[in-house]
Amino acid sequence: MTRKLHVKSYGCQMNVYDSLRMADTLAPEGFTETSDVNDADLVVLNTCHIREKAAEKVYSELGRLRVMKDEAALTGRKVTIAVAGCVAQAEGAEIMRRAPTVDLVVGPQSYHRLPALLEQSARGERPVETEFPVDDKFNHLKDPTREATRARGLTAFLTIQEGCDKFCTFCVVPYTRGAEVSRPVAKIVEEAQRLADAGIREITLIGQNVNGYHGEGPDGRSFTLARLFERLAKIPGIDRLRYTTSHPRDVDDSLIAAHRDLPELMPQLHLPVQSGSDRILDAMNRNHTRDDYLRIVERMRKAQPKLALTSDFIVGFPGESDEDFRDTMRLIDEIGFCGSYSFKYSPRPGTPAAEMDDQIPENVKTERLLELQTLVDGQLTAFNRGCIGQTLEVLFEKPGRFPGQIAGKSPWLQPVQVDAPPSLIGTVTKVTITGTGTFSLFGKLSQNPETMPRETKLAALEA
Ligand code: SAM
Ligand code: SF4
Repeated sequence: MTRKLHVKSYGCQMNVYDSLRMADTLAPEGFTETSDVNDADLVVLNTCHIREKAAEKVYSELGRLRVMKDEAALTGRKVTIAVAGCVAQAEGAEIMRRAPTVDLVVGPQSYHRLPALLEQSARGERPVETEFPVDDKFNHLKDPTREATRARGLTAFLTIQEGCDKFCTFCVVPYTRGAEVSRPVAKIVEEAQRLADAGIREITLIGQNVNGYHGEGPDGRSFTLARLFERLAKIPGIDRLRYTTSHPRDVDDSLIAAHRDLPELMPQLHLPVQSGSDRILDAMNRNHTRDDYLRIVERMRKAQPKLALTSDFIVGFPGESDEDFRDTMRLIDEIGFCGSYSFKYSPRPGTPAAEMDDQIPENVKTERLLELQTLVDGQLTAFNRGCIGQTLEVLFEKPGRFPGQIAGKSPWLQPVQVDAPPSLIGTVTKVTITGTGTFSLFGKLSQNPETMPRETKLAALEA
């Protein structure tokens, strides 16, 4: 029996990856994906608990789904509603109490059990599955078909590490995602090979602390992230490798060297610093200083002068004075970023910072956030303008915004729009940048497609 599935993903890339793996795992049960929630027999909300706003969104969405479910019931159609992800993990029983429309709850480490939980739900139970199972979910997830993988585009996320043992005082991740675990090298290579076989050209390795990776290698000894990159770079067809999110504490010499030596590793680094004040970094339990961060950036840039750096910032952490905030602004000025994810501090139940004195008023947080974002936006605009006249390699991924255009990504992940034939989709091609928009770059092919090397042309033909 064919049933329709709609998965709505909130929050980080880890959730995007998990949502796809949920769809893969439900496909053999007869579920096909639909982008129209009103058409779905099963709706999964894959939730985020990182800030209060993210968590509250789930309850308003559940209100809308209740109406939809009731309307479907009037026509004799049963809609099942599942809540997955980090809100599920943190508030499992509470969700069932607050939202009677929910049929089942499943945490981020147990979603491989969705088929079994659906059976329980069909029997009239309301299962809540939020244990951290001893058995690794990756051993039970189903692989997508080649066609399903390819239909998702030319780039893919691959989870290599999950959970976190760092316990930053503001963060819920160690409680919702559990202890830090790295997947074995062989499993990652197998998944990357499957992606390459389906025509994927770029893989982003993901994890809450991706550069803390220490998975077991074929000889039983652990691999660093850099060694893993070296191995993955050998897979034919994989042209580009990226990774996110890194922690400054886990940047080692081998990762810096990989940025110097591995052409497949894109010159891009997302390295959250959160604050430029040592006092606040200490209160956050980040275990590094402002100076440590500056030194890492200096070494990285020496190894890879083209490195584009982005970061995460939290403003208004408890006790953050004007002077602490100025330290953050000075750090941003000194380093020069090409973008950031920046947030107002949001107290999360059960985390130490939520209990700290001297919580910062909302209006101060808003002002600081605006000022910080204005500074980083200016740096991004300058970075993009600096690309004009440069020749960049672009991985073309899809048709562009206007007829005759195709769109791709630069090595620094900027969207690039070019007038070029669709046959170049799937190739990495040189483009000269001629202008910038708010987010995108515009360019022209640096090479006539007719004179391109044979392998580029062949790839273009296969695409
Ligand atoms: N592991 C990464 C690190 O150590 O930087 C970050 C992962 S965390 C899921 C993503 C980002 O969410 C953090 O870098 C932080 O900026 C933000 N974040 C986490 N907890 C927050 C909170 N309570 N309030 C505001 N932002 C928060
Ligand atoms: Fe959260 Fe800190 Fe772990 Fe990052 S390192 S996931 S911010 S506890």
